Amino acid sequence: MDRRKRVFIGDLTRKEFRQGIESGTIQAAIVPTAATEQHLEHLEMIHDTASVTYMAEQAALRLHPQVVVATTIPIGVSEHWMAHKGTLTVRPEIFTEYVYDVCDALKRAGVTNILILNGHGGNVKPMMARMDEYRAKLGVNVRFNSYWDVYDVTHAALMETKRLPGHADEYETSMALALFPERVHAEDIDDPAVRLATREKGLALIEPAVAGVAEILRKMIAGEPVDLIPSTFRDGERRSMV
Ligand SMILES: [Zn+2]
Repeated sequence: MDRRKRVFIGDLTRKEFRQGIESGTIQAAIVPTAATEQHLEHLEMIHDTASVTYMAEQAALRLHPQVVVATTIPIGVSEHWMAHKGTLTVRPEIFTEYVYDVCDALKRAGVTNILILNGHGGNVKPMMARMDEYRAKLGVNVRFNSYWDVYDVTHAALMETKRLPGHADEYETSMALALFPERVHAEDIDDPAVRLATREKGLALIEPAVAGVAEILRKMIAGEPVDLIPSTFRDGERRSMV
């Protein structure tokens, strides 16, 4: 018998999923949303997808078997990077409706708490513009946060650039060095600020992110309020989406 802790819905049989819902064991689902887009010259374009999938899996494992993870949506709203060939993008209305349909499928299966866990800055504004509508239509406890929303000023202080999050910079490069160093093409780093990235900084920022996402889920399952305001970033600036 396979005794791995499996949290991805795609790794479960329909019997396992059905029994988890019918027994009340499965209490929440994560829908990871990401991107396939340029990450400067040195990071692979899968970065956001690989990062958010990792965060979702690790957070769900901490609450196993209460939390399952939908297949990551790997292409997001990246129109702003289309000048860099290789970036893949979908229109905001297509992206948000696709995310909605995945959430609706989970709701129809009996999932009552859904966390859309985002890993790409360009998805934040389009999703936040629709969340009130989607929450009303779905009629279940659904919220949207990026995994970096759980960071505070103490985490930002770990960055010499003080930029957290940031696109392909000290933060994302540090995370990549910690999570999947084979995806960092260090010889192609052309910005001195990016060279400040280290594996140690990444390792220091993984645990608070996983713990923070797990805490969001715990609160959702317990029916407690979550007051993390989704934020986005462009050009290195973190902006709150109130
Ligand atoms: Zn990124």
